[in-house]
Amino acid sequence: MRGCRVVVAGAGLAGISAAVEAASRGAQVTLVERRPFLGGKTFSFTEPRTGVEVDNGQHIHLGCCTAYMALLERLGSIHLTAMQPVLRVDVRDRAGMHGVLAAGRLPAPLHLGPSFARYGLLSPAERLRALGALGAIAALGPSGRAALDDVSFGDWLRAHGQRDAAIERFWDVVILPTCNDRSDRVSAALASFVITEGLMRTRHGSAIGWAVTGLSALVDAPARRYLSRRGGVVLTGRAVSAADAAGVTLDDGTMVAADAVVLALPPGRTHHVCPPALPADPGLGESPIVNVHLWYDRPVLDGPVLAVVDSPVQWMFNRTAIMGEAGPGQHVALSLSAARSEMGVPRADLAQTMDSEVRHLLPTARRATLDAWAVTKDASATFAPAPGQARRRPGPCTPVQGVVLAGTWTCTGWPATMEGAVRSGLAAVREIAGQMSGDHA
Ligand SMILES: Cc1cc2nc3c(=O)[nH]c(=O)nc-3n(C[C@H](O)[C@H](O)[C@H](O)COP(=O)(O)OP(=O)(O)OC[C@H]3O[C@@H](n4cnc5c(N)ncnc54)[C@H](O)[C@@H]3O)c2cc1C
Repeated sequence: MRGCRVVVAGAGLAGISAAVEAASRGAQVTLVERRPFLGGKTFSFTEPRTGVEVDNGQHIHLGCCTAYMALLERLGSIHLTAMQPVLRVDVRDRAGMHGVLAAGRLPAPLHLGPSFARYGLLSPAERLRALGALGAIAALGPSGRAALDDVSFGDWLRAHGQRDAAIERFWDVVILPTCNDRSDRVSAALASFVITEGLMRTRHGSAIGWAVTGLSALVDAPARRYLSRRGGVVLTGRAVSAADAAGVTLDDGTMVAADAVVLALPPGRTHHVCPPALPADPGLGESPIVNVHLWYDRPVLDGPVLAVVDSPVQWMFNRTAIMGEAGPGQHVALSLSAARSEMGVPRADLAQTMDSEVRHLLPTARRATLDAWAVTKDASATFAPAPGQARRRPGPCTPVQGVVLAGTWTCTGWPATMEGAVRSGLAAVREIAGQMSGDHA
């Protein structure tokens, strides 16, 4: 691709990944982003009421997210993340029942076995039945998983002996935060992929990682630096309004000529900008995420992370520990996936409800004072991971030679994640390189 002019529209992780990959192959890259910063759905900002830098939403990656971590390595920002050596998550319910999901010393897929054998949120009979279903998932293989795309994971689990309580108290602990919906609304193909890749394939695949700084520091300046060192151009605050094989037109009428164009935009935007490349919005739908930040005057949560079942809290992150924020108080962030009902609730009411729930769950919180709160909401945080999603997700290749697609919503096999976005960018550049070598042949 040496000397080839590549325009990348959209600087979320998919666009950044494509731009970085194309530049590393010697292309002259122009990356165009509508907003003033790079990072798309992963960014941080100064929360106006507290003056604290918070993320648009708590993001985690897993040990199996190798492409995302490789991107940060390339950008020189991997040191701004941390990862558990192996998975360890405390899980509890409102009644105080407790379990731990932790990888032990046994080789995969047995590494979670010992902690699961003591997982106190399921009865011994439920644990046995869950092991049976885990075995059935392991036996599926890639084509068996793909064949389940029209089935909901909830239905598949019930057909494999799982009752509602087990779905809520074990399966959704994993599926809700990774797929951004509950098993009943998630494609069994996607969910079984997540269980296989995240929980079972390797001992380290399920370890949880996070940024130890605001998310913007991971990609914004590092990607600009990486591209400018390789002769790339980054245009921010400029939207692409049209694209074809000859290049893109910006919203002020400027034309940027190109030999290849990567559209790394949300699906509706992609269709709008280049209808021949995506003749219709694929209609994947959206799933929201809400985060509630609570600042207490003292520590309330031990450990960096806690998963909660049968409670609106879902997952709780100790931001003070994760970010190395100064004490003596503690900043916790509650990440609420598939937060359809919470989207319409006024922020102050949400903060109050979550504060009461935290006090119910954590005895140490009962005497604490809530010093401040903040709420972030994103109605279109991810595409809906519903049954039938796979056939709605196109690959990178389009009917327009030289115009390719990227984005977490394209056909990566992953749910809407940072990993899926990065992989889609790499696949888009592989497609361009393939088209070019075809041209030369
Ligand atoms: C609150 C929240 C929490 C999440 N938690 C996790 C998590 O824990 N783990 C995880 O892996 N994933 C998580 N995700 C999902 C993850 O952030 C996304 O899947 C991923 O970042 C999407 O990247 P993308 O590049 O495909 O799309 P986007 O980030 O949406 O990028 C598209 C870009 O295109 C730009 N754009 C749009 N129109 C134009 C135009 N006309 N011209 C130029 N630019 C344009 C947009 O401004 C944007 O920057 C979360 C998402 C949210 C919102």
